[in-house]
Amino acid sequence: VTTPAVSKTLFEKIIDRELPATIVYEDELCLAFKDIHPCAPMHVLLVPKKPIVQLSQAAPEDQALLGHLMLTATKVAALEGLGEAYRLVINNGAAAGMSVSHLHLHLIGGRPLKWPPA
Ligand code: 5GP
Repeated sequence: VTTPAVSKTLFEKIIDRELPATIVYEDELCLAFKDIHPCAPMHVLLVPKKPIVQLSQAAPEDQALLGHLMLTATKVAALEGLGEAYRLVINNGAAAGMSVSHLHLHLIGGRPLKWPPA
């Protein structure tokens, strides 16, 4: 019995270099690239190379990976010159604004950020 190939998400295609993106950071576990529709002067998406669908589907075995993503976000913020002023966002599920079914962190900065967001 063969399992039908599941089609790749947009972000898997970027990870595999099948689609172009402006990559700002990469290591063995994750990739960071500029959002194509930035909502601030600096808007980077940080994705694990492991195709976790969304945060709520992460498993206990993903704990170290999730920590790595958080720490890498601070590294990318520094690389992008954001200092200590930036926001991290994870949309979980379509009703929360998630449009690509591959876990991603939005790293946003470069302008004053109000809370709660509009
Ligand atoms: P979500 O709404 O799922 O939390 O975030 C998905 C993000 O992916 C959006 O901010 C959207 O602008 C971004 N995006 C959608 N298509 C592309 C693309 O082809 N390339 C890049 N770099 N970003 C994309």
